[in-house]
Amino acid sequence: MKELNAVITACPPSGIRRFFDIASEMDDVISLGVGEPDFVTPWHVREAGIYALENGYTTYTSNAGLPRLRELICADLAARYGADYSPDGECLITTGVSEGLDLTLRVLLNPGDEVIVPEPCYVAYEPCVAFAGGVPVRVPTRWEDDFAIDAEVVAAAITPRTKAIVLGSPANPTGAVQPRKALEALVRLAEQHDLYIVSDEIYDRLTYTGTHTCLGTVPGARERTVLLGGFSKAHAMTGWRVGWICAPRPVAELCVRVHQYTMLCAPHVSQLAAVEALSGPDDAVQSMVADYDRRRRVFVKGLREIGLDTPEPQGAFYAFPSIRRSGLDSETFAEQLLRTEHVAVVPGSVFGPSGEGHVRCSYATALPLLEEALVRIDRFLGSL
Ligand code: PLP
Repeated sequence: MKELNAVITACPPSGIRRFFDIASEMDDVISLGVGEPDFVTPWHVREAGIYALENGYTTYTSNAGLPRLRELICADLAARYGADYSPDGECLITTGVSEGLDLTLRVLLNPGDEVIVPEPCYVAYEPCVAFAGGVPVRVPTRWEDDFAIDAEVVAAAITPRTKAIVLGSPANPTGAVQPRKALEALVRLAEQHDLYIVSDEIYDRLTYTGTHTCLGTVPGARERTVLLGGFSKAHAMTGWRVGWICAPRPVAELCVRVHQYTMLCAPHVSQLAAVEALSGPDDAVQSMVADYDRRRRVFVKGLREIGLDTPEPQGAFYAFPSIRRSGLDSETFAEQLLRTEHVAVVPGSVFGPSGEGHVRCSYATALPLLEEALVRIDRFLGSL
């Protein structure tokens, strides 16, 4: 047989899945491994989906997505951040941020273009750059700096082939929220070197300390920024597959072009549910965010009490404790913890070399389970 695509063949499977596979064969596993809310979608949003089905909204929508949903997304960004995007030509609805990321990189990159990826970062950034023909260039961020992106470190990685920077804030896996100053320095750098910035803001509503900066509102950023957002996390809508891209018109138009040939449109029923998520009452989201914050405080305090230094997660729903005192690398730590105490966490190395020495624990998990996980992790540490 002829060889399959070389880039895809060379891409390893996600390191997170391997742990799911082991965990799925065990009883009594407490999973802190998945990056998914443990809440179901708020009832009024599910009801909108049911209503949409009952009334036969089972067709395609326009390629860019329902105009009403685009209007609501742009109005929401304007209300919360003062961002200025036109629903008509600067916004499109995608099947999750996953598709948004893929479309964006395909539109931005020519073969061999380099993309700077500050790490540790979400596992899809590097593969998506490579699938789009680009070359990911990792730059480290450090716990000592609260994982803030250092513009000088980024500058040192820029070459004549550098086309873009991809970042996520609030971040998976660190929970870090990029400070406004760090983003401003990054935008200045992008202006100097004429770079695009892809800003994955899927966790924007899940911030607990400090404030989230929408990159599209940083002076100088708008014309070179692609904003990615969605409904999976704050609205507990992972399975509905709805996200969006807001970008300058030339970029957004080409994203619609790829989307119209590869996806056609995001699911109609899901788009109608998303309309309800943004136009209906917001209290379910607010109470989920408050709940994550409560769990965050209890869990981070507990991790510190059992001797694991843990950076303060400011956003998303992940704690990223240091496991250095165990003397194990993160892969071995996660595997042994799973096999002996049936607690699933994700090794930090999966998110890039700077993640080594940490594990990612999702606290989108019920409080009693988090408390039991702490008991088990403590026992595991004692057994080493
Ligand atoms: N971006 C980040 C940082 C994520 O953590 C995830 C999911 O875990 C995604 C994007 C994918 O989101 P979606 O469900 O909208 O495709």
